Amino acid sequence: MTTRITDIQVILTAPEGINLLVVKVVTNQPGLHGLGCATFAYRHLAVQCLIEQYLRPLLIGRDAEAIEELWQLMHQNAYWRNGPIENNAISGIDMALWDLKGKMAGMPLYQLFGGKVREGVPIYRHADGRDLSELCDNIQKYREQGITHIRCQSGGYGGSGYGAAPAHAPTGAAQGIYLDPRQYMRDTVKLFDGLRSRVGFEVALCHDVHERLKPIDAIRFACALEPFDLFFLEDAIALEDGDWLRQLREKTNIPLAQGELFNHPFEWRTLITDRLIDFIRVHLSQIGGITPGRKLQVFAEQFGVRTAWHGPGDMSPLAHAANIHIDLASRNFGVQEWSGTEPPNFVIQTLKGPREALLDVFPGLPEFRRGYVYANDRPGLGVDLDEAEAAKYPCDSGVTTWTQTRLIDGSLQTP
Ligand code: MG
Repeated sequence: MTTRITDIQVILTAPEGINLLVVKVVTNQPGLHGLGCATFAYRHLAVQCLIEQYLRPLLIGRDAEAIEELWQLMHQNAYWRNGPIENNAISGIDMALWDLKGKMAGMPLYQLFGGKVREGVPIYRHADGRDLSELCDNIQKYREQGITHIRCQSGGYGGSGYGAAPAHAPTGAAQGIYLDPRQYMRDTVKLFDGLRSRVGFEVALCHDVHERLKPIDAIRFACALEPFDLFFLEDAIALEDGDWLRQLREKTNIPLAQGELFNHPFEWRTLITDRLIDFIRVHLSQIGGITPGRKLQVFAEQFGVRTAWHGPGDMSPLAHAANIHIDLASRNFGVQEWSGTEPPNFVIQTLKGPREALLDVFPGLPEFRRGYVYANDRPGLGVDLDEAEAAKYPCDSGVTTWTQTRLIDGSLQTP
């Protein structure tokens, strides 16, 4: 008997104050359903509408086992392709179909990807601090947990929080998060110099520019950081300035990571075939889920490019699990960004809500132990959803402000 899709439901929940969007694909087999992540935290209502109004009617009655066919069907249905809202919507259903496939096979997903090549996934965490001393303290706390890779910065991306324009901005300049690129570069080079003096060279350190430099400044910045042996420098070049990566590559030997904003295969294809980057940082739901993610991982393997999938707080435990299952089975795995869980009483990141709430809503989140993350061996993604718990944490439909970054003359800068 063919397993057919009988319903597709959207569940919105924000147990940590971050809008999460879960997709549930229901089938004609009693008790058999799949769960996936379609989280686009700042456009969740648009993604919900797309799934409920367009993809649900498109897919009801179809064969739930035909993942590739259904992915292509969704991808081509609107004629125009590869927008972030569309891709996130498709991802929610795609991950749910893979979850279903694993449940039908009675296997965790990494088995369907060829089986484990490592028992646990090495992860990196973010350490911040108001000054070098506080940053070193936070790094030490992570190292005591066995974490070997740490992303470092001081004072958030580029500096201050959202608020009024500083005194040196033009009269009448709008509110925002004000960035002085020259000061940011000076402070960050000094920070890494201090870090290496204090913590030595054993720990692998990363830094994320978050696209906040002009290309020539990014080149100078990367060269200045070379003595500090970074594991990678992330998003030194903005998506729109991608052609500059070739010049950056020629000028520096610092390992480059790029790609959390990518939507379309054209954005990464040449970077990989021309070996202009070392780590591909794609956000799985942003490119349409596990199906394109696995294709990208296998493609990158052919060119010696490693994966470092995006793993921020604004994605659900289902998406973290999808990353981990691919990581477990990938030869060209580099490192995994992790914002999941640590042991109780070990939370040094600023969280907007109770950590326990996330685990109540999503039982089965892959477990962190001594520097590694382990998938559970339940079939599929291995993560469940408690819908009664999820309903306790409604999403916020307000307009976000954190993306309003401004340069010192008050003009907007990509966040
Ligand atoms: Mg990043």
